[in-house]
Amino acid sequence: MQLNEKIKKIEPWLVEVRRDFHQYPELGMEEYRTRDKIEEYLSEMGIHDIKRMANTGLAAVIEGKGQRDEQEDLQGRSPTTVALRADMDALPIQEVEGREYGSKNTGKMHACGHDAHMTIVLGAAKLLKEMEREFAGNVKLIFQPAEESFGGAKPMIEEGVLENPHVNYVLGLHVAPELEVGEVGIKYGQMNASSDTLTLSLKGKSCHGAYPHEGVDAIPAGRTDDYGNPKHCQSQPGSTGVCSHQFWKDSRRKSGEYSR
Ligand SMILES: [Zn+2]
Repeated sequence: MQLNEKIKKIEPWLVEVRRDFHQYPELGMEEYRTRDKIEEYLSEMGIHDIKRMANTGLAAVIEGKGQRDEQEDLQGRSPTTVALRADMDALPIQEVEGREYGSKNTGKMHACGHDAHMTIVLGAAKLLKEMEREFAGNVKLIFQPAEESFGGAKPMIEEGVLENPHVNYVLGLHVAPELEVGEVGIKYGQMNASSDTLTLSLKGKSCHGAYPHEGVDAIPAGRTDDYGNPKHCQSQPGSTGVCSHQFWKDSRRKSGEYSR
């Protein structure tokens, strides 16, 4: 059977799995039900080499049983291991779509598509397990918690997710609604930035309305464009950094100076 046909065959199952994850979203480091479900699915596929890590994370290995590359064998090199990684957490957002598979967890929603990511890796795992005689080397499945908050990848790496067997390549993926269905965007190296918070205080100087040249207006310095970005933000499409900010009005008045 062609690979495309195999994928078509498991499509109804993929929809079911994705909708189940979507109905029970869990925030970072609370993905207990999600983890248990993944474990269940992997066991059903006959994948039993599963390790719990980083509180709610999981890693599992599919060992290819195909003929090894002769050169690799002769040189005594260990088999190549490719990891497929999915994130697991949802966001603290209330879902209002009203679909029958909408979120059942108040104030939580898979709004970033991690329900799809887990389903994609589970689908790949299902087919790769079925095809384990057709490839050599290992496929490591990584389900990483807390992508949206603190935790996630770091504790998994510290707990050895990239060793035993040693991982040579990692394929991560994120849904991108800006691409057409069927289109895939690829970037080697870093792809998405993590966020850092920077707080700036802008202080103006009060003056009489008739003498604006004697005051300092803090507003233009913190002014945003129509999209909420500071005017000076230089992020380019395709760069790994995005700059966004909030402008907080401070109504405290001090003698001789105030910020608006
Ligand atoms: Zn995301």
